[in-house]
Amino acid sequence: MKQTKQFQAESKRLLDLMVNSIYTHKEIFLRELISNASDAIDKIYYAALSDDTVSFNQDDYYITITPDKESRTLKISDTGIGMTRQELEDNLGIIARSGSFAFKNENKLKDGYDIIGQFGVGFYSAFMVSDTVTVVSKALGSSEAYRWESSGADSYTIESCNKASVGTDIILKIRGNSADENYDEYLDEYRLKSIIKKYSDFIRYPIKMNFTKS
Ligand code: ADP
Ligand code: MG
Repeated sequence: MKQTKQFQAESKRLLDLMVNSIYTHKEIFLRELISNASDAIDKIYYAALSDDTVSFNQDDYYITITPDKESRTLKISDTGIGMTRQELEDNLGIIARSGSFAFKNENKLKDGYDIIGQFGVGFYSAFMVSDTVTVVSKALGSSEAYRWESSGADSYTIESCNKASVGTDIILKIRGNSADENYDEYLDEYRLKSIIKKYSDFIRYPIKMNFTKS
């Protein structure tokens, strides 16, 4: 059954800021999503260290970037620890970093734009370039997978779905409804490669580019 839930007030404010952002370095959304993917793989690695039933085979852990111009989607997939239904709600529905919001608030909006770049605002930055953000995740040790989805308004939906392997897929429906709000560049192979090189060169897991479709 598909459930619709309201974002918490602080999350809603940050979401509004992201959706309506005139921030010039929108490209940093990819850095944020790749760093979350890397964090998720770190977590499964630490889980493996302390749990004999979890094995960590280096080759099984990587991040995949898949743009699809036809469907206007950009998918960031990881083979990390994944999220349970509760974790999807707690981590994505409630702002995890109220500290960075308070910081922005205190420093007024015009300074806030730099703060986005410096500190990162994490997951919600995806809404700077997306109409809809979909998160499909299966947690380590869970047989169930869930789909979290939001178009950046007041609410998100959550429902069970199918996903074969543990990990998370973040699917962005890239915005392109008008001339001044067109982010086709984030579906372009060379543009994506250069953003990854610029911000994510230090990531210690392979970042595979899945550019089979054109
Ligand atoms: P931060 O990374 O600073 O905690 P984010 O807004 O980037 O803040 O992410 C919020 C939380 O959502 C993370 O702390 C993590 O628990 C969860 N999360 C986000 N992306 C993923 C992912 N790809 N896999 C697992 N958990 C994730
Ligand atoms: Mg993050």
